Amino acid sequence: MASKRDYYEVLGVSKSASADEIKKAYRQKAKKYHPDVNKEDADAAEKFKEVAEAYEILSDSQKRAAYDQYGHAAFDPSRMGGGGFTDFGGMGGFGDIFDMFFGGVGGQRSRGPQRGADREVRLDISFEDAVFGAEKEMDLMRVEDCEKCGGSGAEPGSAINTCPQCQGSGRVRNVQNTPFGRFETTHTCNRCNGEGTIIEKPCSACKGRGKVKRKRVINVRIPAGIDTGARLRIQGEGEEGILGGPPGDLYIVVVVRNHARFKRDRYTLICDLDINMVQAALGAEVEVPLLRGDSHLLHIPEGTQPGDVLTVKNKGIPHLQGSRKGDLKVRINVKIPTRLNKRQKELLSSLFEGEDKDSKKGLFDKLKDAMG
Ligand SMILES: [Zn+2]
Ligand SMILES: [Zn+2]
Repeated sequence: MASKRDYYEVLGVSKSASADEIKKAYRQKAKKYHPDVNKEDADAAEKFKEVAEAYEILSDSQKRAAYDQYGHAAFDPSRMGGGGFTDFGGMGGFGDIFDMFFGGVGGQRSRGPQRGADREVRLDISFEDAVFGAEKEMDLMRVEDCEKCGGSGAEPGSAINTCPQCQGSGRVRNVQNTPFGRFETTHTCNRCNGEGTIIEKPCSACKGRGKVKRKRVINVRIPAGIDTGARLRIQGEGEEGILGGPPGDLYIVVVVRNHARFKRDRYTLICDLDINMVQAALGAEVEVPLLRGDSHLLHIPEGTQPGDVLTVKNKGIPHLQGSRKGDLKVRINVKIPTRLNKRQKELLSSLFEGEDKDSKKGLFDKLKDAMG
């Protein structure tokens, strides 16, 4: 835990950063360390996780408050009473932090019903699915009560006896008389491991653990416009609750794969378009292929320069909230021919002869003439 970096430092924000600043910083970092962008860089995956973890805490006001007060110790899995498995390295079950602080740190585990831990998994989706939205099925393994023994761990029909060593409390008291007085300490009963009961015959299905891993199929609705780093909460699909407590929630961290032709900047869709020098000089109407296989007829104005960016309103990515759409930005790349025959070379040379003296209009007229 000592080597863990400060969450504020990870996101590069100050301790007083607003929720918005934290979100912004997270977005930037998540993009920077995106596993798709950094395929060769093993460090980047680690950084990505680190950033996600920092955001997980700092984006939640309760967790942030706990972190500000207790630092990383607030989320130390060794104090979480179980923790459970997660798919995101280092993300211990963030069960119920307040249970932990106000219900006896490192002490007795409450025997009453407890809410299951939250769980976080990563979901990679295509660029198109992020733009248009999608329904996805995810197979997740979850630890659940064994059906055969109902979670007791005892073979059906066999006895569950009260532990004779702790009389069912799960704790053993130890009294020491010292020159300073009488000290009483308690520790977990080593005979029953704190369960308070001893199983006569362990359940054959779960080998006495009372828990089994079971596959669950989760339906995830990906809203149109979602971007890398977004977290979708699915209520009740986290870890199963303890002793009949409600299950935790599942958080799905979305990672959008890169597209071969398109990029995005929030809701702006960006692509490159190759045109030839005649189209650039004279202007043209050129089909820009769009994401769904359709296309947009783009007007290239006369005199378009390489690197010019043309904007098409409302052809970008839908906003997550509301019905608005971003714009499409088309970056123009003017292809200069590399192989010209003699006649073409002469023709081109003649066009640009005395260019300095000619007006712009004059050059266009010449071009138009030359192209017939
Ligand atoms: Zn069982
Ligand atoms: Zn015991």
